[in-house]
Amino acid sequence: MLTIDLLIEARWIIPIEPPGITLEHHAVAIDAGRIVSLLPTEHAQAQFQPRHTVTLSNHVLLPGFINLHSHAAMTLLRGYYADDIKLMDWLNQPICPGEDRHVSPAFVRDGTLLACAEMLRGGITCFNDMYYYPEAAADAALRLGMRASLGILATEFPSAYAADADDYLSKGLSARDTLRDEPLISFCMAPHSPCTVADKTFERIATLSAQLDLPIHIHLHETRKEIEESIRQHGIRPLERLRRLGLLGPSLIAVHAIHLEPSEIVLLAEEGCHVAHCPTSNLQLTSGIAPVHDLAQRGVRLGLGSDGVAGNNRLDLFREMNLASLLAKLSSHDATTLGAHAVLRMATLNGAAALGQDKRCGSLVAGKQADICAVSFEDFSLAPCFSPAYHLVHVVGREHVSHVWVDGNACVIENKLQTIETSELLAIVNLWHNRLGS
Ligand SMILES: [Zn+2]
Repeated sequence: MLTIDLLIEARWIIPIEPPGITLEHHAVAIDAGRIVSLLPTEHAQAQFQPRHTVTLSNHVLLPGFINLHSHAAMTLLRGYYADDIKLMDWLNQPICPGEDRHVSPAFVRDGTLLACAEMLRGGITCFNDMYYYPEAAADAALRLGMRASLGILATEFPSAYAADADDYLSKGLSARDTLRDEPLISFCMAPHSPCTVADKTFERIATLSAQLDLPIHIHLHETRKEIEESIRQHGIRPLERLRRLGLLGPSLIAVHAIHLEPSEIVLLAEEGCHVAHCPTSNLQLTSGIAPVHDLAQRGVRLGLGSDGVAGNNRLDLFREMNLASLLAKLSSHDATTLGAHAVLRMATLNGAAALGQDKRCGSLVAGKQADICAVSFEDFSLAPCFSPAYHLVHVVGREHVSHVWVDGNACVIENKLQTIETSELLAIVNLWHNRLGS
């Protein structure tokens, strides 16, 4: 018998790969943070000698969710925009109202800590972030044991963090250098949006992305006004501008991608671009409904993102999955659009692929890191269950997440965070609540 660190036995497993399957009474064998095997429980019991066994008799196991677009530190401003604000009123500024007085490494570390705690407890094991002070965000993610892709931010607007676009890039690149030996941390180029980044900065970003093999994470075609502004300033729409500047390709993660002509959907597909779909943010800011059905039909790979608190006050991929499915059905006038397995793939493997991490995470396959989420079905409000996949998208809430592992380490056990005490987290948040309220 082979000795391993951990055996997780589950009633159901949705591995995402191969697509569309739900296994019953299977187990995941894990050693040194990696998935060794996924096999029927009785075979696993005969084959492995685990140091630790977790039996989840009425649960579904699936890969941890990947939040493909966030501004995690802003979670300290949750509800701060409660009186509602038009997107363009703050999109043209690098700093939103309320942030300007407070943004600092401490703000970013504490805000990201709060965000990571919320995300982990809701089954999210990796997030793709765009914000200032990425080293402070990394501190928080590493403290809680979460995987993070951090943005090398670029904008032409000065802030407390950086003076100009070159300064943003050099600070982000330096953070990447400092953190190069952290296996849970990776980086993306993160030009904020077409409205806030100049051509010469985009050209430099295209070069850096190619040289360093980094994805490019950008808000794109989010509002009609963004497109009008681009036509006024550059004579072309933002996507065409990025094409001419050499940014399109499999490295590009277009966040929102709402206002698209049919030819632009074809272009995104032909270039192998990824889209981070953020349905709650698109609704809250009334930006529009992304043409998810058409994008998927053309073969564009879509992941799911929460966005930050200016557009969404929850970091909850269960809600994003539900809304993504319902909006796609409504906008395509077809109830069969975006079925449950397709949505689950968006929230997991597609996000990993967009980040260039699909060899490492995003599905429960031997050889990948053990980033896993378990959902408990021991609640009458989830009964009866005929299809666990359908339940995950349309019935389950994040409160039903019972266990979360990242790299094989338990971050949540029986709904409880293992890497920080709730009392400590609340004390940190209360401190900022008092400061922000003043
Ligand atoms: Zn955003």
